[in-house]
Amino acid sequence: MNILVIGSGGREHALCWKIAESPLLQTLYCSPGNGGTVEVAINTPLDTSDHSEVISFCKDHEIEFVVVGPEGPLVAGLVDDLTAAGILAFGPTAGAARLEGSKGFTKDICAKYNIPTASYGRFKDAASAKNYITKEGAPIVIKADGLAAGKGVILAQTLEEALAAVDYIFDGAFGSAGAEVVVEEFLTGEEASFFALCDGTATLALATAQDHKAVGEGDTGPNTGGMGAYSPAPVMTDTLCKEVMDTIIAPTVQAMTDMGHPYRGVFFAGLMITADGPKLIEYNCRFGDPECQVLMMRLKSDIVPLLVATAKGELAGVSAEWDEKAALTVVMAAKGYPASYEKGSEIKGLVAASGDADVRIFHAGTKQENGHIQAAGGRVLNVTALGATVTKAQEKAYKAVDSIDWSDGFCRRDIGWRAINREKA
Ligand code: ATP
Repeated sequence: MNILVIGSGGREHALCWKIAESPLLQTLYCSPGNGGTVEVAINTPLDTSDHSEVISFCKDHEIEFVVVGPEGPLVAGLVDDLTAAGILAFGPTAGAARLEGSKGFTKDICAKYNIPTASYGRFKDAASAKNYITKEGAPIVIKADGLAAGKGVILAQTLEEALAAVDYIFDGAFGSAGAEVVVEEFLTGEEASFFALCDGTATLALATAQDHKAVGEGDTGPNTGGMGAYSPAPVMTDTLCKEVMDTIIAPTVQAMTDMGHPYRGVFFAGLMITADGPKLIEYNCRFGDPECQVLMMRLKSDIVPLLVATAKGELAGVSAEWDEKAALTVVMAAKGYPASYEKGSEIKGLVAASGDADVRIFHAGTKQENGHIQAAGGRVLNVTALGATVTKAQEKAYKAVDSIDWSDGFCRRDIGWRAINREKA
């Protein structure tokens, strides 16, 4: 089967690497891809916002299956258009991707289907949002309703901050994503990510992960797309995973079917494990980046039949096998990230760094020029390792990081600290 993966991040390199292992694969394309995907796929610069261009490419190259990595094309309806053109695609339709595209939409589903989550209010004007906040008090969470690349959430510690956040969003800080504001109860607990496939009705729990969003050690400083992750999340016991499937995923599947938008794709549930049990913070409608990198390292099964069964509505009875080992990924970013950074510096030593069979380096913002790898983005490499424990996986990942020769890059040195403290205890 010829397969096209859409996207250019570490997530897509990890997906391409795993898909390339499948005996079902004939030729793999990645659009646009990066300096790492080129090793396993044919990089193809398509304008993915032009769905007819993607469809023509698929027809010309006899692509039988398209895997859409990022949320943007899903929310824009790429899967709807591919399906209408008779091309099988992995990922939810635009109607189902609203679970990620509109926080208010998801909160209303939680309210109607009794899914545990923070209490909330939805507002289209500043005065009524401020009125609600004044009644609820701080700390409180203010969110732009739509997609804001991880920046549209303000955790306000004081009433003043919360009221200012409302003005900030309604004054256009996030453009049309901030036309509506969601105000939420401030939840406390440990965060974890839970992944499950859904084919419209049947579900398959995949695995859990935890990530580090802040740029600085000790989870300090501005938020980023993610500076590292590990899987499994030690906080997620089997009992908690079952509770998440029963109280969060199953009613969501029912809700989407009832609304006429059956969900086909991966659920990425952001959870807060509170004293009252797991609560849903948010849904993402695609694999996480960098969480996908650690999931792919641990997945022993062929990924292609899993994704195809999800897209075709044939997931019932399908299972997946996971490595018992832990996987951990360290993101190497360009100095200055998440603010401004330089592009174009050369990265050396990648082959030697990935010499250990338990180590893989997934590329994100890189490009290959005449066999040389250059930095071409903010988050650049995902140095990923398997180990008997998170502590062992971390040791291997940092050993590989230390043998990479890239003076313009940096990484956090404490990825996995929470799990490692648990292992030490
Ligand atoms: P964006 O829409 O800008 O892309 P996002 O989808 O990443 O943002 P969320 O996942 O909803 O936004 O929130 C980001 C982070 O804010 C969460 O990972 C969590 O740490 C924190 N957070 C969100 N909601 C709450 C809450 N109700 N209580 C406490 N913390 C929260």
